[in-house]
Amino acid sequence: MSTVLLQLVDALRSGAVEVVDLTQPLGPDTPVIGLPDIFAPSPGLTMETISRYDAGGPAWYWNTIRLGEHTGTHFDAPIHWVTGKDLPGNATDTIPVGRFVGPACVLDATEEVARNPDFLLTPAWIEGWEERHGRIPAGAWVLFRTDWSKRSGDAFTNLSEDGPHTPGFHKDASALLANDREVLGVGVETIGTDAGQAGTFDPPFPNHGIMHGAGRFGLASLCNLDRLPATGAVVIAAPLKLLGGSGSPLRVLALAPRL
Ligand code: MN
Repeated sequence: MSTVLLQLVDALRSGAVEVVDLTQPLGPDTPVIGLPDIFAPSPGLTMETISRYDAGGPAWYWNTIRLGEHTGTHFDAPIHWVTGKDLPGNATDTIPVGRFVGPACVLDATEEVARNPDFLLTPAWIEGWEERHGRIPAGAWVLFRTDWSKRSGDAFTNLSEDGPHTPGFHKDASALLANDREVLGVGVETIGTDAGQAGTFDPPFPNHGIMHGAGRFGLASLCNLDRLPATGAVVIAAPLKLLGGSGSPLRVLALAPRL
């Protein structure tokens, strides 16, 4: 085995490197993004037992599941958005697997979001982060830490009469990351990779349009970003190999030095 893989195996065994689960539990109560009534809704998870050591299967237990591709902790492929519909390798089964693995840059805007749930990352904010931690490398997963995953129920969706209020990206920040930094994609702790109010932006849902139009990915409903260093972790985020899939729930793992 190569030296670097032997070192990794040793570090995993000793605990110097730990596997951090960035995934929320997935169940019938997992919230799904709400859209205006004129659009088709995505169903949350339903699960029914096929058999459980009973007449239907005396020695085995298994379930049938039904859910929208974009439920809970999930992956957004470029084909999810109209801007990415004609790109090569744009669906869950055709993205080269090497693009599911990359170094993590954790952008911590916890304090800003605590003051303002509608906080948007801007190019200036990102460049300030780069002055402290170095330039975001090509092929990085950019993880937007907000501690939003510590909320639950109504506080997580944070719905008002004028729609949800959750943090996201200014369109210029999405363009910087997608085009100038050539990231793999962005990961967020909220229900989707656009801000809660992004349906009212010009253009609407700019992070989806820009990221997916550039062949970049999205990860939504992450957690445990507070267990990662700003740089130095590696994220593995591989969706189900659904034929022509626009995304899927997945288990997102980080290999991280023990803090
Ligand atoms: Mn999605």
